[in-house]
Amino acid sequence: MSDRILFWHRKDLRISDNIGLAAACQQSSKIVGVFCFDPNICDRDDIAPARIQYLIGCLEELQANYLQAGSQLLILQGEPSEAIPNLAAKLDVKAVFWNWDVEPYAKERDKQVTEALKQNGIAVANYWDSLLHAPGEILTKSNNEPYKVYTPFWKNWLQQQKKQPANKLQNVNGLTEEELKTAKEAGAIDLPSAKELGYEWERDLILEPGEKAALKRLEEFCDRALLEYEMQRNFPAVDGTSRLSAALKFGAIGIRTIWQATINAYDNSQSDETDRSIQTWQQELAWREFYQHCMYFFPELASGPYREQFKDFPWENNEAYFQAWCEGKTGYPIVDAAMRQLNETGWMHNRCRMIVASFLTKDLIIDWKWGEKYFMQKLFDGDLCANNGGWQWSASSGMDPKPLRIFNPASQANKYDSEAEYIRQWLPELSSIETEYLVTGKIPQDECDRCGYFAPIVDHKQQQQKFKTIYKEQKN
Ligand SMILES: Cc1cc2nc3c(=O)[nH]c(=O)nc-3n(C[C@H](O)[C@H](O)[C@H](O)COP(=O)(O)OP(=O)(O)OC[C@H]3O[C@@H](n4cnc5c(N)ncnc54)[C@H](O)[C@@H]3O)c2cc1C
Repeated sequence: MSDRILFWHRKDLRISDNIGLAAACQQSSKIVGVFCFDPNICDRDDIAPARIQYLIGCLEELQANYLQAGSQLLILQGEPSEAIPNLAAKLDVKAVFWNWDVEPYAKERDKQVTEALKQNGIAVANYWDSLLHAPGEILTKSNNEPYKVYTPFWKNWLQQQKKQPANKLQNVNGLTEEELKTAKEAGAIDLPSAKELGYEWERDLILEPGEKAALKRLEEFCDRALLEYEMQRNFPAVDGTSRLSAALKFGAIGIRTIWQATINAYDNSQSDETDRSIQTWQQELAWREFYQHCMYFFPELASGPYREQFKDFPWENNEAYFQAWCEGKTGYPIVDAAMRQLNETGWMHNRCRMIVASFLTKDLIIDWKWGEKYFMQKLFDGDLCANNGGWQWSASSGMDPKPLRIFNPASQANKYDSEAEYIRQWLPELSSIETEYLVTGKIPQDECDRCGYFAPIVDHKQQQQKFKTIYKEQKN
């Protein structure tokens, strides 16, 4: 058996600040990377073409980075529990390394891959990489249990010591020509395009894929917007957030590198106000970790509502309303603008994600699972933990239901898009309509007709009353 290590990349598509990869490099100078297109994921019906496009872009760059470091990133397609052990055996590697993933499917898949590798006498090593703190590191002080509420989780999480970024992959030895031939016989293929995988996204992504672009975006965000984040993050017309969510989802950037950037920002911060902005952004990073911890400890979250009360909630599930919501044709300008942003870019501002999720569940009384799935079909940062967490939070079906959250679209627009800049950007057909009408959503019928826009499909006031009544009945 050679002393080569096969490193299996999944949601860590980078060579710098990668804990598992750095650990592999400490044990051997012979490292080869692999990524496997898993049909159990790629053939699902909630895959966004934009997300596949981003993934392919990350893999292209990762392949180039491996070559530069002296090795190769191999590509497989098939059941990981067969494809990975088969390749590992044919290449005669001593071990396969990878970083853990908290998702229920990934946990099960990894168990099977581990068993198959061990049967072949190949060692396995796993690491926590995607989180600053692994599940189990942040538990309640009173009885050592996982947190179900964010704020105490955050307080505990913040106090814990964070790791430094891990070393970058460099100067390693890859496969010889002969071994590359063996890898091909064992199933290694050329990197497919998104189209070859059955997904097409022909527009630009709001963030270029890959490690280099993510690092550049982090730097640019820290220089330009981080110090005003607390003020700016809620205004969807402003480029006031990092837009690093897809890079974080696919691990195009290391979480320790991001954390280090916040520490550096503190060093340069000169006021309480800027300190607060940095901490507010850290809190968002902690939300991401909170939802991943929740999914790890309560995998049942993936398949339905957490709260009993929501298990047989009488959602009305009106198909026509759902279609109108998906297409941005509800007659509520802020909701429609947000849905158009999602459909056209594969991304939506966080404030708007909350507005449209509240609208779907509390105004249209449609099951949040429908919205969760639609988001996954469109978002290029679509991520089970964050998306499920966001939807359960919005539907009030999750762990932390208080207060009962019902967003009034007009108040939200008035507060966060008071000049209707965002609304006009995504609904250009309404650009000539007075701001007040756009923000309140009370566009006169003749103006709607002139612009080819829609009358509101439901009345917010009535619907929220209706939701509250159903909610109360369910509670009793
Ligand atoms: C209904 C709903 C669905 C959502 N679906 C997703 C999803 O599929 N994927 C996803 O990454 N985020 C999701 N979010 C969370 C949030 O909207 C996005 O992470 C954020 O808008 C991404 O933009 P950003 O990178 O500029 O964020 P920033 O404001 O710059 O925040 C930095 C990072 O923190 C994390 N983060 C921020 N807010 C949250 C949050 N509320 N929950 C979890 N992580 C957070 C993200 O990784 C984000 O990139 C959802 C929120 C809601 C309300």
